[in-house]
Amino acid sequence: MVIDFNKNNDGLVPAIIQDATTKNILMLGFMNEEAYQKTIDAKLVTFFSRTKNRLWTKGEESGNVLHLVDIKIDCDNDTLLISANPKGPTCHKGTDTCWAENNEQNFGFLTHLENTITDRIQNADAQKSYVASLFAKGINKIAQKVGEEAVEVVIEAKDNNDELFLNESADLLFHYLMLLQAKGFKLNDVVEVLRNREK
Ligand code: AMP
Ligand code: ZN
Ligand code: ZN
Ligand code: ZN
Repeated sequence: MVIDFNKNNDGLVPAIIQDATTKNILMLGFMNEEAYQKTIDAKLVTFFSRTKNRLWTKGEESGNVLHLVDIKIDCDNDTLLISANPKGPTCHKGTDTCWAENNEQNFGFLTHLENTITDRIQNADAQKSYVASLFAKGINKIAQKVGEEAVEVVIEAKDNNDELFLNESADLLFHYLMLLQAKGFKLNDVVEVLRNREK
């Protein structure tokens, strides 16, 4: 990766840190070449701190480290976009992001879950993986499962047990994601249809 560390004549490039799952922006820091190299070697996001005037591995005191997932360079090689998994709140003021947002496992988790399903379908042993075993039974069986879970959601909707209702809703969504993949689609394809209806 060719990085233009000298655009500002200070050997530093800004690094935007993004949560690998939720896609929230967690913080912004600066890296020199050494910090960049250390980030890759240790797999922990490391900056050059302009206030401390030294390399600073995020979380070195607090333990709230950022586990490196991926690094991308922008169109003109002067800004990094770093995907990471945070251990604890990223901001030293105690909030999840430096903009006082909370970083819940929101819809981005569904993409992660879809990738896990794909992985099980392609790689897992049907004796050990529920997803692989259900997938092996074919589309009709998966579709039937979606129908059953939908009925369970209807039943729980009539009761007053929120926990059961949420759990059956999760079962339905999970099996629906499996059915989509069995048909060669992902949730994004359905979202596209909904978005097009709005236009
Ligand atoms: P930490 O790297 O989390 O152990 O924090 C060490 C020190 O770095 C803190 O006391 C703050 O001065 C500073 N710091 C930590 N996290 C941030 C952040 N997200 N933005 C700016 N400064 C930070
Ligand atoms: Zn740029
Ligand atoms: Zn902060
Ligand atoms: Zn169920």
